[in-house]
Amino acid sequence: MLSDLETTIATIEQQNLKLITGIKERWQRAFEEASTLLKWNDQLIVEYNPAIWRISRYPVGLRLFSYPWKNVCIFEFGTPNYAFPFDCFESEEAKLGVMLHEIAHFIDDCYWDFDLRNVTIESRNYVTREQRA
Ligand SMILES: [Zn+2]
Repeated sequence: MLSDLETTIATIEQQNLKLITGIKERWQRAFEEASTLLKWNDQLIVEYNPAIWRISRYPVGLRLFSYPWKNVCIFEFGTPNYAFPFDCFESEEAKLGVMLHEIAHFIDDCYWDFDLRNVTIESRNYVTREQRA
């Protein structure tokens, strides 16, 4: 189900609400499968947010939202949208692969304690953050 904000954004982007709802449910299923495969126990919220595509050309993204009492991972998907009117990871396999990759980034960033300087130093050894994920 879409939140009020997602419904508003999808309407502005001139997208079919039922279609976006179905895509969101498939991303949620991909997360359930990925968390089982990775034995990852954290919760994750899936949100439709085409702004990540408009601002930084990311079709998906994983961000950490910190409340005083807990941290919540938010997985955002940005397609389809007005500029890019199709789901760019349409198949189940693509969604699972993307979800595994994004969670791997998160696990890797935790390993480096979100220290970008250390990640940059590590990258000089030809192992980039992308390659590790
Ligand atoms: Zn990546």
